[in-house]
Amino acid sequence: MSELVIKNLHVNINGKEILKGLNFTLPKGEVHAIMGPNGTGKSTLAYTLMGHPAYEVTEGEVFFNGVNVLELEPNERSILGIFLAFQYPVAIPGVTVANFIRSAVNSRRRAVNSDDKGVPLLEFRKEVKQKMELLKMDPSFAGRYLNDGFSGGEKKRAEILQMAMLKPEIAILDETDSGLDIDALKIVADGVNTLRGPDLGVVIITHYQRILNYIKPDYVHVMMDGKIVESGNSDLALHLEEHGYDWIREKVNGY
Ligand code: ADP
Ligand code: MG
Repeated sequence: MSELVIKNLHVNINGKEILKGLNFTLPKGEVHAIMGPNGTGKSTLAYTLMGHPAYEVTEGEVFFNGVNVLELEPNERSILGIFLAFQYPVAIPGVTVANFIRSAVNSRRRAVNSDDKGVPLLEFRKEVKQKMELLKMDPSFAGRYLNDGFSGGEKKRAEILQMAMLKPEIAILDETDSGLDIDALKIVADGVNTLRGPDLGVVIITHYQRILNYIKPDYVHVMMDGKIVESGNSDLALHLEEHGYDWIREKVNGY
């Protein structure tokens, strides 16, 4: 059964239409890349899926495992198992990576069961340790203040660890493209490759093909002017790397 289904999605920001009838399906456990030139609405799609209030859905539908996502608040979407890795993560001095993740895990548990007392500290520490080993992260990283003075790579590491601990069914990764050096790219790629599987579907949103050298997607989609206009296997990403986006633009415009 299909996991995430987006049909004819139209979204406005400040009264201007950005998404113009987008269709997209992510079957359970698959990894799909959405590529496209800057300003085509890739981040708009990510924020709309998380329920950011500035993004007004004027038409269309989004279903996740048969549930109408558009009727849910952002925290309800996250409880449902949708995870968004932010393009620009915020720093929280005074709050460690571990404590931040623990409070996220606990608020999710409480949302499911209001009597939940939270994950016991020792159990939590054990799981963080396991996940950090799995992801080849230095244990001291969990004790640092979240994103405070983090390099691009460390910010990505914190996101991947959050993802590993929150165990979403779908992770939407909106890349910074220009901001990521090769180390940061590899951290994201290794993390996704380690965690991907039948229980985790991933949408990689990216401007450049680079990251797809490290993560082999099941499908690649090209977004242009608020819509997905072309889909294919991972060869499509290579073709885009070589030929750019103009040939698709021409194809879409019909000349
Ligand atoms: P992408 O991620 O593909 O580069 P975005 O979704 O960030 O594209 O932006 C799509 C379009 O929406 C751009 O033209 C951008 O200027 C516009 N846009 C994005 N955010 C806002 C906003 N908060 N207010 C007004 N326009 C916005
Ligand atoms: Mg963007």
